[in-house]
Amino acid sequence: MPRDPYEVLGVARDATEQQIKKAFRQLARELHPDVNAHDPDAEEKFKEAAEANEILSDAERRATYDRYGHEGLRSRGYAPNFDAFGSIGDLFNAFFAGGDVFGGRSAGPAQGDDVAVAVEVDLIQAASGAKVQVSFEAVERCERCHGNGAKPGTPIETCERCGGNGQLQAVTRTPFGQMARTIVCDVCHGDGRVPKQPCRECRGRGRRAVRRELDVDVPAGIADGQRIRLTERGHAGEMGAPAGDLYVLVRVREDERFVREGDDLITALDVAAPLAALGATLQVPTLEGTTQVELSPGTQPGEVLTLRGQGMPALARGRRGNLRVVVNVVIPRRLNDEQRELLERLNGTLSEENLRAEGSMFAKLRRALGSQAA
Ligand SMILES: [Zn+2]
Ligand SMILES: [Zn+2]
Repeated sequence: MPRDPYEVLGVARDATEQQIKKAFRQLARELHPDVNAHDPDAEEKFKEAAEANEILSDAERRATYDRYGHEGLRSRGYAPNFDAFGSIGDLFNAFFAGGDVFGGRSAGPAQGDDVAVAVEVDLIQAASGAKVQVSFEAVERCERCHGNGAKPGTPIETCERCGGNGQLQAVTRTPFGQMARTIVCDVCHGDGRVPKQPCRECRGRGRRAVRRELDVDVPAGIADGQRIRLTERGHAGEMGAPAGDLYVLVRVREDERFVREGDDLITALDVAAPLAALGATLQVPTLEGTTQVELSPGTQPGEVLTLRGQGMPALARGRRGNLRVVVNVVIPRRLNDEQRELLERLNGTLSEENLRAEGSMFAKLRRALGSQAA
């Protein structure tokens, strides 16, 4: 009578799919012939674990087992049988695609890994777009062996294990019949060919790390923290598989003059109180230089002048945001005698009419509280 699969894997009856997977992996690792050559029962134990895994990793089979036990599975035609695999090595490969049990390679010649680099631009560059150079370390095809991993001048032979296909068929018997799975050949890693003598530069891997420099176009309108993806500019793939991607993280340096809010820019304009009262034509900074704004007489603190189309360009759209100029009325400090006298005289002449604000109580409060809403 076969053992209880929960007992075999050492998991609780309410174990999650993840816990079952993990337990099986753990057992497989312990029973791997490379690790456990001294245990004559390792193969039998592994088959038992694999069977337990086959039962518990399938919801329907697990439910059948939970209700009716091994008898129930058998009466429904499920009889796990891993004898067809031959060697225990083949059995491992069927489950773990050539080495996966020790570290996680997925099936197929692996695509290269992604590379991430960061660049910094200032606000002007972010507004106009810029070409920046990035420097990074990437795995590239080995030049000595041109990526085939063989010592130059030595032959590369067709992989005997897979007959040059780079893939193996693993057949599992299930209640639904035989299931064939394609896995990567563990000898040639999917290439179908193996070098007789490995290249000494890359130790037969066909790849090596190099420092690479690249000009990257930063598009106009980019925001701090956005990433630019350059397809297949990352690490080279294994054996002809595509390279990974390069991600360029763009940091936009803070600007002393502008604060950015989406596509809008905000700048503060200091105006002495008498000038705000009198009205004036003043210079304000823009991305391109400076421009003039008309300050009407009686401009109040926190008033906002909106310069349309003077903000940041919107990414991938033709339109530009606005430049919002927030008037910061500065009350003169550290007055001298003459100034004090002038202000006292002015203050003596002020009437209700001079101080009456337009708009509602709400608008006044909002202004007093420094809200920037125009
Ligand atoms: Zn090489
Ligand atoms: Zn092969």
